[in-house]
Amino acid sequence: MASEALEQNTRALSGSSDSSLLADFLSNTLVLRQTIPYLPISALLNLTSTSKQLRDLLYSDPDVFRHIDLTHVKAAQFEVAGIDHGGEVWRNVQLDEYLTEDDFYSGPLRGIFTSLQRRNILQSVQTLNLDGLSVTAELIHDILVNPQFAVRILSIRETKHLNHRKLMQSLKYACRASRPDNTPRLRGLYLFSKRDVPALASSPKAATPAAVVGANWNHKSAHALKEAILDQGDDWYHKRGRIISKPVGAGWAETLLDCRDSILFDAVLCTGPRHRNSRAFGKVAITGDTATHPWSVATYSVSGCATCGTAPEGFTTYGESLTEELPLLTPLATEASNIRAATRPQGRGCSKALPKQQFVPRCEDCIRERYCFACDQWWCESCYEVPGKEEWMGVQVVALEDEANGLAAHEAAALEQPKVKVRAGYCVHCNLRGLQRRRSRPG
Ligand SMILES: [Zn+2]
Ligand SMILES: [Zn+2]
Ligand SMILES: [Zn+2]
Repeated sequence: MASEALEQNTRALSGSSDSSLLADFLSNTLVLRQTIPYLPISALLNLTSTSKQLRDLLYSDPDVFRHIDLTHVKAAQFEVAGIDHGGEVWRNVQLDEYLTEDDFYSGPLRGIFTSLQRRNILQSVQTLNLDGLSVTAELIHDILVNPQFAVRILSIRETKHLNHRKLMQSLKYACRASRPDNTPRLRGLYLFSKRDVPALASSPKAATPAAVVGANWNHKSAHALKEAILDQGDDWYHKRGRIISKPVGAGWAETLLDCRDSILFDAVLCTGPRHRNSRAFGKVAITGDTATHPWSVATYSVSGCATCGTAPEGFTTYGESLTEELPLLTPLATEASNIRAATRPQGRGCSKALPKQQFVPRCEDCIRERYCFACDQWWCESCYEVPGKEEWMGVQVVALEDEANGLAAHEAAALEQPKVKVRAGYCVHCNLRGLQRRRSRPG
């Protein structure tokens, strides 16, 4: 394996303090491309400051600073401040009476951006990972509209101090019909999914540049993460059930809709027939109130209906559906900073059973009492009408402790009447077999 050879080379180098040897090693484009994504910005900046040869090498390649991961902000703060000999970058975070809430919470990142801009690096950054950091809506607004930023893929999952209301306003503003040509530069925003498993070691303590690579290039864990994705499959396309575990705030569905020409998200709109964006809107009878949710963000992924094998609105299919209907996938792509790489499914997943990479995105309202949390089957609106409240009154559902063997025929019949398929999140068969105890129902 090329990656194993690389890792051995890096390990061998970490025993040496010869930076020109490292420069030779990294001057191989393939090696450079494979190594850079796994180095934190602090290690890269350290490398540029160790020798002219390394600095020239790293600054001459626009790809070196294309993908920046600041998620380990403590290390980044410390290292960038260290390079600045005395914390120059922190000057704009000094506490004074004019300090705004935004200055305070976004200060550390603004300081880092200022430092990157001074080095002419900021313009090269196309993928920016700020997961888990203190990120304000004002900061995102700057990234969206300020021409000094060229970020195309931005990840702000599980961040602190983010005002969603303000962020939605900024996104709608950036995507407004009267926006200047070629704006916004941002094409993908990760916000709804869980952040990627940390693949990097924290701050580099090693003194030599070679040791910095050795200590930080945790290739194995990044490789393991990728392998896990390959085996388990991608979110949406191969995983079934709840994909977005956090509640999605009001207004996000409209924001996704307003931005769909410009910015994709790690979530998509529900395509269920009760919503106006659905291909099946108005074509299938819907029970319940549809007026309150003209659009909704999908939080579940389901396969074709257990009866008809599809859905009234059809599937979202990779390679066939419009790009604007595809979700950004995790982990963040390191090989390129564009929508194509960010939406491409990687998993081996269900490739045999499903020749096409496809799924049906649904919100909670559109799978309620249609989807079984134990066996992942569901019944679509064309095939199954969920009984109304009055009809439920007549339905006796027996919660079974063990097996269904002891169930009397009339009890089983009661479960099936009137044509109930799913009750309390589990289908009739799984209810009968007591399967609901094996899997906990989320939310
Ligand atoms: Zn069906
Ligand atoms: Zn829906
Ligand atoms: Zn079931």
